Amino acid sequence: MDTIYLVVPCYNEQEVLPETVSRLTSKLAQLTEAGKISEKSRILFVDDGSKDTTWELICRFNEEYPNVCGLKLSKNQGHQNALIAGLDAARPLCDAAISLDCDLQDDVEAIDRFIDAYLEGNDVVYGVRCSRKSDTFFKRTTAQGFYKLMKILGVDIVYNHADYRLMSRRALEALGKFSEVNLFLRGMVPLVGFKSTTVEYERNERFAGESKYPLKKMLYFAFDGITSFSVKPIRMILSVGILIMVVAVAFLIYALVAKITGNTAAGWATLFGSIWFLGGLQLFAIGIVGEYIGKIYKETKHRPRYFVDKLLLK
Ligand code: UDP
Ligand code: MG
Repeated sequence: MDTIYLVVPCYNEQEVLPETVSRLTSKLAQLTEAGKISEKSRILFVDDGSKDTTWELICRFNEEYPNVCGLKLSKNQGHQNALIAGLDAARPLCDAAISLDCDLQDDVEAIDRFIDAYLEGNDVVYGVRCSRKSDTFFKRTTAQGFYKLMKILGVDIVYNHADYRLMSRRALEALGKFSEVNLFLRGMVPLVGFKSTTVEYERNERFAGESKYPLKKMLYFAFDGITSFSVKPIRMILSVGILIMVVAVAFLIYALVAKITGNTAAGWATLFGSIWFLGGLQLFAIGIVGEYIGKIYKETKHRPRYFVDKLLLK
């Protein structure tokens, strides 16, 4: 029978953790009883440098429950790094790992269908939200706009899939071969390939506590996703540049004709406007290029993505 690890990144989640532990442990017990997964299956909580009592709670649950494990990172590294730290730790111990959020927004009941799909021979199972009722109007429209934009930019990304997914051991091993520092897991996993499928689930409200993804972090994340996976923005800048040059030539001809026909206007406004416009455009272009250079800079340093402080296994 297969050993499944549930990998749960947690950052300041003391309000939800007790409920999450009770729901996930009963889910595991239920699956074990049904004979679907092995008794060696575990839940691995990754404490991403929380400032509250999250780690103390994880230690306590590790003692109380036979199947709760914990991993503490040396400091806050962000959701994606915490997730990969957990998956790296689980990889040698499991046949498949499921990543999910601590706040119970990812429907725990969908795990059954993840396992079924895995047992049918899928190496990757993507959780896809069938509705976004629980999201605010703002979050819903921006998120969906983002997925569409990624498609336009040519990034292979599963629509409405976040980080609720199952990966088999060999898919995890393949993911482990990626050494990039700018992590955008939902864009990386499709690059791994293998047989995959999707499972729909209802996205719930956060059970307790506040979102750890404020607007600023969300925008950075989206921007990272685009610039880590697509070079189309650079090409778009190039096209805009060419277009502007064509327009400039047309203006030049117009000005020349106006001069010859003696119809010269002061011309101050157009001159002034175009200087500003071109200046802005150049800065914008340099900014985009700089973003890629910044990424190259980070990647060439090959900095470790995280450090493990403590590991509690069972
Ligand atoms: N998280 C993390 N490190 C961070 C921020 C968030 O490990 O720096 C975890 C958090 O505990 C949660 C998951 O990532 O389990 C998703 O975060 P959250 O629910 O706050 O994001 P939202 O659902 O609001 O987008
Ligand atoms: Mg959440």
